[in-house]
Amino acid sequence: MSLKSIYGKFVSDEVFSYGESIMGELKERFEQIDMIAEYNQQKVLKAMQDAHVGEASLGGTSGYGYNDIGRDAVEKTYANAFCAEDALVRPQIICGTHALTVALSGNLRPGEELLYISGMPYDTLHEVIGIRESKGSLAEFGVSFDFVDLKADGHFDYDGIKNKIKDNTALVAIQRSRGYSTRPTLSVEEIGEAISFVKKLKPSVKVMVDNCYGEFTELKEPTEFGADMIVGSLIKNPGGGLAPVGGYIVGTKECVENASFRLSAPGLGKELGPTLGLNKNFLQGFFLAPTVTAGAEKGAIFAAAVYEKLGYSVNPASSSPRYDIIQAVTFNDPDAVVAFCKGIQAAAPVDSYVVPEPWDMPGYDDPVIMAAGAFVSGSSIELSADGPMRAPYTVYFQGGLTFYHAKIGILMSLQKLVDAGIVTKEKLKLS
Ligand SMILES: *Cc1c(COP(=O)(O)O)cnc(C)c1O
Repeated sequence: MSLKSIYGKFVSDEVFSYGESIMGELKERFEQIDMIAEYNQQKVLKAMQDAHVGEASLGGTSGYGYNDIGRDAVEKTYANAFCAEDALVRPQIICGTHALTVALSGNLRPGEELLYISGMPYDTLHEVIGIRESKGSLAEFGVSFDFVDLKADGHFDYDGIKNKIKDNTALVAIQRSRGYSTRPTLSVEEIGEAISFVKKLKPSVKVMVDNCYGEFTELKEPTEFGADMIVGSLIKNPGGGLAPVGGYIVGTKECVENASFRLSAPGLGKELGPTLGLNKNFLQGFFLAPTVTAGAEKGAIFAAAVYEKLGYSVNPASSSPRYDIIQAVTFNDPDAVVAFCKGIQAAAPVDSYVVPEPWDMPGYDDPVIMAAGAFVSGSSIELSADGPMRAPYTVYFQGGLTFYHAKIGILMSLQKLVDAGIVTKEKLKLS
């Protein structure tokens, strides 16, 4: 039996052959990613050994969760791997937005200002901060907000930052990943330069990095470049697909402690919090996270190369440096966005028979189409895609627990475009 015959159960010969021609061009690129994964695998292994992860760490507690040695081992592992003093890694943190909320509200006080220096924050944080009026926002508690856009070339605007750092600027935030915007993702090295700049101007300021989607795409994390806190979601990269829920805050003892008093309660902090049997998932997922992230990254590069060659605008380009797992493809055609998402859905291990349609999602101005057939609901380290139904009709693709799964997802998306007559067979042959 050949690869071609098994792929034949999903896509046409033309689509498969086109995919294989793309694969041939990506060898060197994939080798670089494997090297990063290999390094990070050993980094995580060492972190676990140094944290004394033992069989007893795999159990969990209920109720108050006092003396949860597994939870302590998980948090020590994260702190070790990311070269930080302490960590808060909990199933009580529901998602990335929640983790960021806990980190911000624990470390800011009334009268202080939060300054984002990577442009406007990720959408869900607008209500957290109070950029969009919202009950319980930081603004309601007297914390003000300002931001500095990145320059047109996607780099930090150092003059702008200098002008905006004031007496009451207490926390500077940097978003590593582009999220669903068009600016480039920031490398950890560039983030490090900005942190040094900010700390030189005002040593007392704390720097938080929204690390979502960036973990393990490089050899180091922003904590190794002076970030006081890095924050993310366990249903993205660091959960390795096995964490069914959770978020993390890793950083200085002070920042993590401040955050812990918001997550539980003042006076309780990190001492409480049952892990409900999830320590094993957290540890095993973290152990697999470097290779899972590498697979997702390869999938993103494969997607970029597949659609770039067909003449679509992709961001980042297949050959560009890459510091997160998100891939944008712009179709300038609503039908193409729908076809793409249908292909991704049809490639899912769960809910493959469901057909996604655009719908009016709360919080969005335009209908959005989403494709996800995941073991963990909403997990975006698993194969997923979404796109707002508005010009220029861009679809955002991410994840895949293995590269092979991301690959078939992309090929099936292309198959749907071929079936819809948007990409012709001739074009596949010529490209
Ligand atoms: C996903 C993401 C978030 C929010 O995460 P949720 O888990 O969806 O709440 C915040 N910032 C960035 C950059 C993200 O990618």
